[in-house]
Amino acid sequence: MNLADRDRQVIWHPYTQMQTSGLPVPIVRGEGARLYDEAGNEYIDAISSWWVNIHGHAHPYIAEKVADQLRKLEHVIFAGFTHEPAVELAERLLKVLPPNQSKIFYSDNGSTAVEVAVKMALQYWHNRGRKKQTIIVLSNSYHGDTFGAMSVSVRDLFTQPFWDLLFDVVAVDAPVKGREEDSLKQFAKAAERDDIAAFIFEPLLQGAGGMIVYDHEPLDRMIGLCRERGIPTIADEVLTGFGRTGKFFASDFLRNKPDIICMSKGLTGGTMALGATSCTEEIFEGFLSDDKRKSFFHGHSYTGNPVACAAALASLDLFEKKETWTDIERIAGRHGEFLSGITSHPRVEDPRQIGTVLAFNVTTREEPGYLNKVRDWMNDYCVSRRIVIRPLGNVMYLIPPYCITDDELGRVYSTLSAMLDEFPAE
Ligand SMILES: *Cc1c(COP(=O)(O)O)cnc(C)c1O
Repeated sequence: MNLADRDRQVIWHPYTQMQTSGLPVPIVRGEGARLYDEAGNEYIDAISSWWVNIHGHAHPYIAEKVADQLRKLEHVIFAGFTHEPAVELAERLLKVLPPNQSKIFYSDNGSTAVEVAVKMALQYWHNRGRKKQTIIVLSNSYHGDTFGAMSVSVRDLFTQPFWDLLFDVVAVDAPVKGREEDSLKQFAKAAERDDIAAFIFEPLLQGAGGMIVYDHEPLDRMIGLCRERGIPTIADEVLTGFGRTGKFFASDFLRNKPDIICMSKGLTGGTMALGATSCTEEIFEGFLSDDKRKSFFHGHSYTGNPVACAAALASLDLFEKKETWTDIERIAGRHGEFLSGITSHPRVEDPRQIGTVLAFNVTTREEPGYLNKVRDWMNDYCVSRRIVIRPLGNVMYLIPPYCITDDELGRVYSTLSAMLDEFPAE
C-alpha cells in the first residue's frame, strides 16, 4: 500500500470531509519554497504550509539549532524550573515587540495563545473584584478552534455545531474600506457598556475570515477609545506577526499599542508548534498578590518547550539578516505588479494586498463562502499543476515563505493567470 492509502486507513484530517475528499498528497521532503512528493514531483509552496513557514522548508540553520538543543535538553517542567532558550526567546521577543510589552507567557499554538490572552483579560478584572466578562470582537474574525477562541470568533459555518455552547460576545462590523465610520459608531456604543472586559482583533488582516485587509486608522481609534475607558486590547498577531504585513508586527503600524499580543504560526519559522502571549506590566501586575487564588492557573505540559524555543531563536537570528527584509519587500513588490495586471479581469473582484499577502475574490454566481464549488475547482487546478494553495471558498490568496524566488513566484502567478482564463462557464 502506498502512503496515501495507508493514511486513509488510520488518519482523520483537519478541515476535511473524509467521505468526499480525494487522497492527500504524500510529501517526503522540503527545501526552500519547494516540497517533493513520493514520486519525486516538485511543488511550489505558495501558502507557507498553512501560513507558518517563513524562511523555507527544512532550513539547515534552524535544523542545526534544533538538533543542538535536542542533545542538550529536550524538555523540563516550566513551573518552578526554567532554561536558557525560554529566557533568551522572551528577552529577544520583547526587543522586537511594541515597547509597552513586558512579559511573555508560553503555550502551544495560536488557539492556546488566544485562550491565554482571553483568560488573562477576564481574570484581570476578576482579580480586582469587578464583574466584566463581555468581549468586543470584529465581524469576519477567526481566532482559533478551542472553545474560548471559537467564542471570540465570528459565528460562522466552522463553529455552528457549538453555537449554543459559546459564550456571548459583542460583535462589531470590521472597519473595512468605506465602512469605517459606521463600524466606529458601533464600536463606540459597544465600548460604553460597563461590562466590557476586552477587545480582541486581528490587526489589519483578517485571515481565515477571507483575507480581508483594512486600514490602521480606524483600528487606532478603536484602541484609543478602549484606552480612555480602561478596556484591555488584545492583538491576535498569530498570522500577522513576523514580517507578514511588511513590518515585524502589524501592531507596528499603530500609534496606540495593544495591551496583549498573541503569537504563533511564524514564531518558530514554521518549524515547531509554539504559542506565546505577551502583555504589559499593568496586566501582569493584576495577578500579583499574597493570595494564591489570584495566580494565573493556566499551563500546558509542553509550556516553554526548549526545542521549540530553540527553533524560534534560530528564526529570529534569520530575521537579523538584511536579506530577510529585502525578500519581504521584493515579494510585496512582485505581488503588487501581478495584482495590477489582473485587476480588470472579469472574474477578479476586490484585489488586495498587505506585505507578502495577496488576495482576490473570484466572481461566481453561486453563494460565495467557504463551501463554494469554485474553491475545489481552483484547488484542483493549482495542486495538479504542482502549486500548493488552499483557497477560502471563492477567496484566492498567496502567502509564500520569504525565500520564494522570483522564478518560483513567476510560476505561481502564471498558473493563477491561466486559471482565471480557463474557468468553466457557470
Ligand atoms: C491560525 C490562527 C489562529 C489559530 O492558530 P492555531 O495554531 O491554528 O491554533 C488564531 N488566530 C489567527 C489570526 C490565526 O490566523
